[in-house]
Amino acid sequence: MKRFSRRTEDFVCEHCNTEVKGNGYTNHCPHCLYSKHVDINPGDRASDCGGLMEPIDIEQKNGGYIVIQRCLRCGFIRKNKITAEDNFEAVLNIIRHKTTLLRKG
Ligand SMILES: [Zn+2]
Ligand SMILES: [Zn+2]
Repeated sequence: MKRFSRRTEDFVCEHCNTEVKGNGYTNHCPHCLYSKHVDINPGDRASDCGGLMEPIDIEQKNGGYIVIQRCLRCGFIRKNKITAEDNFEAVLNIIRHKTTLLRKG
């Protein structure tokens, strides 16, 4: 039997110090889109890395957005859905940043 590991956790973002109200489903910061490397599979809290996950890319999928995050400590890559609570400016900033990088080529 699989244990349901969904938990509600409040946390303070280690990147921008925003106090985030956990909804038990996502643990990324809605302000800067950083999160922490605490999961191996979403929600399982099975990783003991604890590194900061930096948003490095945005994917568009089915009319929604997905942020790709990379752990600054171990390089683990994870995808996270952007929700209505997330700061869309931050999403646009990542897209813009990426475009600039591509132009510099
Ligand atoms: Zn933040
Ligand atoms: Zn990590």
